[in-house]
Amino acid sequence: MSCACVGAAQLGSEAQKRKYLPSLGKLQKVCVYALSEPDHGSDASTLCTTARKVSGGWGLNGKKLWPANSSFADVFLILARNTSTNQINGFIVHEGRPGMQISKIENKMSLRIVQNCDILLQDVFVPEDDRLPGANSFQDLVNALSIARVMVSWISIGIAMGAYDVSLRYLGERKQFGAPLASSQMNQEKLVRMLGNIQAMSLLGWRLCKLHDAGKITAGQASLGKAWITKQARETVALGRELLGGNGIVIDFHVGKAFCDMESVYSYEGSYDLNALVAAREITGISAIRPASRSYSPTLVLNIECTEASIYLAVVIIKLISQLPREDKEILLHLRITPRHSSAHEKKCATLPVFAISLVSVSETLFSM
Ligand SMILES: Cc1cc2nc3c(=O)[nH]c(=O)nc-3n(C[C@H](O)[C@H](O)[C@H](O)COP(=O)(O)OP(=O)(O)OC[C@H]3O[C@@H](n4cnc5c(N)ncnc54)[C@H](O)[C@@H]3O)c2cc1C
Repeated sequence: MSCACVGAAQLGSEAQKRKYLPSLGKLQKVCVYALSEPDHGSDASTLCTTARKVSGGWGLNGKKLWPANSSFADVFLILARNTSTNQINGFIVHEGRPGMQISKIENKMSLRIVQNCDILLQDVFVPEDDRLPGANSFQDLVNALSIARVMVSWISIGIAMGAYDVSLRYLGERKQFGAPLASSQMNQEKLVRMLGNIQAMSLLGWRLCKLHDAGKITAGQASLGKAWITKQARETVALGRELLGGNGIVIDFHVGKAFCDMESVYSYEGSYDLNALVAAREITGISAIRPASRSYSPTLVLNIECTEASIYLAVVIIKLISQLPREDKEILLHLRITPRHSSAHEKKCATLPVFAISLVSVSETLFSM
C-alpha cells in the first residue's frame, strides 16, 4: 500500500476506487503520488503546477520532483493548483499521456531500488472523470499524508529491526582479542540501546495504529510519530553500522544499506523538522513553520498617485491578493500615496487620505489573514 493508494482511497470517488484500488492493492498496477516540486518540498502547500479548465477536462502544466517509481508506473496521482479557485486539486493521469516527460534521478546513495524521477507536464489533458472529487484544498490532502506518515513510521521500525538482527548475529560470530565482539561491554550497551529504541518505536507505532483505527488520530500525532520514530531508527541503524566496523559500510552486510536508506526515510514524507513543527503547532497552538521575519518575502511596491485610475488599480491588486492562498499573501504590498500638487487635484486629494488609509488597513488585514 503506497501513499498514492492511500490518496486514491481517501480522495477518489466510489467509481474511481472501484476502478483503481483492486489492481493497485494487488500490485498489478503501480501508482505514483506526485506532490513535491523543484521549488516546493517542505512547503508543498504553495506548489505551482497548474490545472486549467479546458473543454471536457483539465490541462496540467508544471514540474514534479521525486515521485517514486514514476519510470515504470501505470497511474500518476498529480496535485496541481486550480487556476480558477487557486486551491490544490488532485488528478489521475495515465502513463504515456501526451505532454508528460519523465526522467529518472541518477546517482542516489539511498533507497536505490526506488526509481525517483522528475516529471515535466506540458498541457497534459486529464478528462473530467479523472479529477479526484475529494481533493479540493491542501487541507484535504492532510488526512492522506497523516496515514502515509504512520506507514513510513513502520517502514523505519522494520529497517531498524533488520539492522539489530544482523548486528546481534555479527557480534556473536566475529572474534577480536580472542573473544566474540558480543562479549564487549561497550558493544553490549549499543545492542541494548538499539533494542530499547526498537521496542519504544514499536509501541508508539502501535499506538498510532490504534488511534487511526478509532478514528482519533490527528495530523500532529501522526507527525510526532513519524518524526520521533525516524529519529530513533536513524540512531539505531547508525549504531548497527558502527558495530560492524569496516563491514558496516559494505552493502553485502545489509546494515550499511539500512543506514543509507534511513537517510531518505528521515527526510521524505515530510522531513524530521517539518513533522516536529507540525506536532509542535498542535501542542502549542503556535506555528513556527514559516519564518517570523518577512525580510525574505517578495516585495511589491506601488507608488500610487491620487488619481481615480491608480486607486482603482490598487483595489484590483488587493482583490487579487485576497484570492491568493493564505501563504502567498505574505507578499508585502506597500501603498505609497503621492499626492499631485496641481490645484485641480488638490480638492480631490483632500478626500483621498481617508480612502488611502482604508486601503492600507485593508492590505494590513490581508497580511494578517
Ligand atoms: C527517496 C525519496 C522519495 C520521495 N518520494 C516522493 C514521492 O513519491 N512523491 C512526492 O511528492 N515527493 C517525494 N519525495 C520528496 C520529499 O517528500 C521531500 O524531499 C521532502 O518533503 C523534503 O523536501 P525537500 O527535499 O525539498 O527539502 P527542503 O524543503 O528544501 O528542506 C531542506 C532542509 O530544510 C529543513 N526545513 C525546510 N523548511 C523548514 C522550516 N520551516 N523549519 C525548519 N526546517 C526546515 C528541512 O527539514 C530539511 O532539513 C521523496 C524524497 C525522497 C528523498
